[in-house]
Amino acid sequence: MGMFDGKKGMVFGIANDHSIAWAITEKLHAEGAEMGFTHIPDKDPARPRMERRLRKLVEPIGAKVIMPCDVQKEEDIDAAFAAAKETFGELDFVLHSIAYAPMDDLKGLVVNCSRDGFKLAMDISAYSLIALAQRAQHILKPGGSILTLTYLGGEKVIPGYNMMGICKAALESTTEYLASEMGPMGIRVNAISAGPLKTLSSSAVGEFDLMLKLYEDFSPMRRGVTPEEVGKSGLYLLSDLASGVTGETLHVDGGYHIMGGPPVELQGK
Ligand code: NAP
Repeated sequence: MGMFDGKKGMVFGIANDHSIAWAITEKLHAEGAEMGFTHIPDKDPARPRMERRLRKLVEPIGAKVIMPCDVQKEEDIDAAFAAAKETFGELDFVLHSIAYAPMDDLKGLVVNCSRDGFKLAMDISAYSLIALAQRAQHILKPGGSILTLTYLGGEKVIPGYNMMGICKAALESTTEYLASEMGPMGIRVNAISAGPLKTLSSSAVGEFDLMLKLYEDFSPMRRGVTPEEVGKSGLYLLSDLASGVTGETLHVDGGYHIMGGPPVELQGK
């Protein structure tokens, strides 16, 4: 008996097998969940790279829906939830694992960030959670759950994370407002604040090895976290084990976020 036997959900944000959404999906699948998936629309339909990449991963685990969805497009989101309704009837969970910022604005100082870049990053990285929740509210069962992914850069200044930190602050606040509004519908909304993991998105942020070294030196557990650990926590928050938890940002970061200074053994060095 799996914890997710008979449960159904939609997963937004698998780019490849390094994606955090894939790590969570693997855990959900192992517990019996049935899922639908979306990918970013392919620019050239004759060469559907994104679709192929996703299919390769999710067909072997019995994906029930595989379709394009650009979260900037209302019609794409409507179509994804229409397909979910047709296939599953009702949903038990929605996983939102999506972020984007134009490279120049992401790499540059916040003080130099462009208006257009800011709007685009906020739209894809923060508003999209509202856009998904807006549709999900009509087909999520009471007891259903929405989960998003954030990073410490939304709470504290992480030089290099720059404008994405502002998007994550908005996303975390969005999580709380949605949790407050959707709680009476019986729907929980939570976020995982994950420690750095090597993925397509994090390679755009850069300085990954430096970040990992910081976690190894400063976090209480003196190491980074694994995709599997984030996957397990995602499973927990989407499951009935977390039935009393909503509006929460759960840090899966080896405790890094609690530190206000270097560990004793590094002081004075
Ligand atoms: P990832 O594999 O690159 O996943 C990001 C996903 O967002 C990709 O599937 C990407 O699609 C999708 N996306 C971007 N723009 C989109 C749009 N307009 N419409 C629909 N989908 C869009 O990287 P990840 O690290 O797993 O990131 C997932 C989430 O975790 C993000 O919110 C990220 O900020 C967060 N997070 C990551 C880390 C980390 O260290 N990796 C730590 C904490 C939080 P394409 O790639 O196909 O464009």
